[in-house]
Amino acid sequence: MRKNSTTKNRTPKFVTRGRAAVVGGGMVAAIALGSTAAFASASSHESFLASGSTSSVSAAVHQQAAGQKAAAAKAAAKAKAAHAKAHHKAHHKAHHAAWVTPTTGYVLGAGFAQAGPHWAHKHSGQDFVVPSGTTVRAAHAGTVVTAGWGGAYGNNIVIKHGPHLYTQYGHLSHIGVYVGQHVKAGQQIGKSGSTGNSTGPHLHFEVRTTPVYGSAVEPLHFLRAHHVHV
Ligand SMILES: [Zn+2]
Repeated sequence: MRKNSTTKNRTPKFVTRGRAAVVGGGMVAAIALGSTAAFASASSHESFLASGSTSSVSAAVHQQAAGQKAAAAKAAAKAKAAHAKAHHKAHHKAHHAAWVTPTTGYVLGAGFAQAGPHWAHKHSGQDFVVPSGTTVRAAHAGTVVTAGWGGAYGNNIVIKHGPHLYTQYGHLSHIGVYVGQHVKAGQQIGKSGSTGNSTGPHLHFEVRTTPVYGSAVEPLHFLRAHHVHV
């Protein structure tokens, strides 16, 4: 019964062998174009050959098809990996260019809305305690709208990032930018100090919705919401 079945199956396959070689040639071309339909016919073609055909033409086509199938699969995997890598890199870079801490090597000092004897009202920013002369950098790209003496803030800088978004940097020992200057995220804008109403070297940092005092938001919450580890 089993043998009969095999014989019965084999007959039409030998009959169509010549056509299979032609079809196989077309299939190779299709594979080169990356057709998944071609992969499906490659599988049925393989089972046909496995059933006993010894045609050298078919075998050569099969070998070529298998090789191209493997090459196509390898190229597709490589392209997919390259795309994923590029996407990850762009994503990572975008985050890095977005927001950064206004200084580095700091210890967090007085926080937002903290009450204290040094402030007429509650503390309007976040203090980053650093030695005097530490690099102060733009937390985000923008345009400098204030660069000079700011009373209680001492030497201070305000950068506009958007219609309702500003950052302020106070008590500086050195101002390195001018009004109207465009700065990039992370670019040095000055050096920390203790000018104005300050009891010791630190950077007073504010995030505001306007350029002036009274519109500050919680800066640490803001930075963390913008993927900054602070
Ligand atoms: Zn402060």
